[in-house]
Amino acid sequence: MKYIDEYRCPRKIKNLTDAVKDIVTKPWKIMEVCGGQTHAIMRYGLETLLPDFITLLHGPGCPVCVTSQEIIDKAIETAAEKDVIFCSFGDMLRVPGTKKDLLSVKAEGGDVRIVYSPLNAVKLAKLNPGRIVVFFAIGFETTAPANAMSVIQADRLKLNNFKLLTSQVLIPPAIEAILSPPNTAVNGMLAPGHVCTVTGYENYENIARKYEIPIVVTGFEPVDILSGILKCVEMLEKGDNRAANQYARSVRREGNLKAQQIISDVFQVTDYKWRGIGMIPDSGLKLKAKYSKFDAEEFFGAVELNDDTNDRCISGLILQGVKKPDQCPEFAVNCTPENPLGATMVSSEGACAAYYKYRKSRL
Ligand code: SF4
Repeated sequence: MKYIDEYRCPRKIKNLTDAVKDIVTKPWKIMEVCGGQTHAIMRYGLETLLPDFITLLHGPGCPVCVTSQEIIDKAIETAAEKDVIFCSFGDMLRVPGTKKDLLSVKAEGGDVRIVYSPLNAVKLAKLNPGRIVVFFAIGFETTAPANAMSVIQADRLKLNNFKLLTSQVLIPPAIEAILSPPNTAVNGMLAPGHVCTVTGYENYENIARKYEIPIVVTGFEPVDILSGILKCVEMLEKGDNRAANQYARSVRREGNLKAQQIISDVFQVTDYKWRGIGMIPDSGLKLKAKYSKFDAEEFFGAVELNDDTNDRCISGLILQGVKKPDQCPEFAVNCTPENPLGATMVSSEGACAAYYKYRKSRL
């Protein structure tokens, strides 16, 4: 299939892995930031094709995984409210809260609906003026423009019954938290291509300079990922600590300016608690005061953040590249996708869930 096969071509994959073998002279730890990249690495067994000198670490780029338990509990509580239509992308429905998940609320009679765009939720609000329609707005910079558009559209339509329950996170502050001492397990990084399509990669140039580390903007297919790794190894071997773009078919340095403008019209930067990592300053988005009437937390009450550390779970260390999923004693023993104990097992894009799906048979 055009645009797929060429990025999964076995000959290109072999050429790229051979090129890495030819140039690598010492051990390097490279972190892929995005959960989609982690999933592809495990699915295609890319790590097994690379020389032993290369260790791949799996970063915090799974938005479902890093959504805090308290926000998931708030979603469940809100969805159970009378006269609420609760709209979400499908992948959030099975994420467990403290006592149940959104699917259980639906089974108990709650009006929980899967939508494919936040604009569908706006339409529902227009069609149901007597009910409150809440959209669960989670994700990185990739989902923020459409979520912002839904608020602009609801405002244009003068809808008072549309609300966003917001859990929007920003990647660069999380990368900085990972690279800040003492969390310095990472030598090079693959930046998330889809996020950079929106944001561009100027921010990543600053981070590369500040932490003296090469960062390569990388896509999601095997050839993309191996091209990113090859570029990163070349830069590591030369001591070239800059940002580079290996995903030029999608990413421009300045990103999508229109999308950035829409985000900054609607949202402002705020501190955010990442599940498994904790509070990271300026790493989230919340609605600006002028749009506060669309804020589900203003309407239903604010999310109360707790200390939810589970000492059996090392997902915080995994998300920071310090440990790998199969180094966790609970992995595939007491922690499975059906019964996840921590952040990185709750979504199929999480590192523990990817290891469980593709590696369990090899343990
Ligand atoms: S296997 Fe489960 S308990 Fe262990 S780190 Fe992953 S999510 Fe946490």
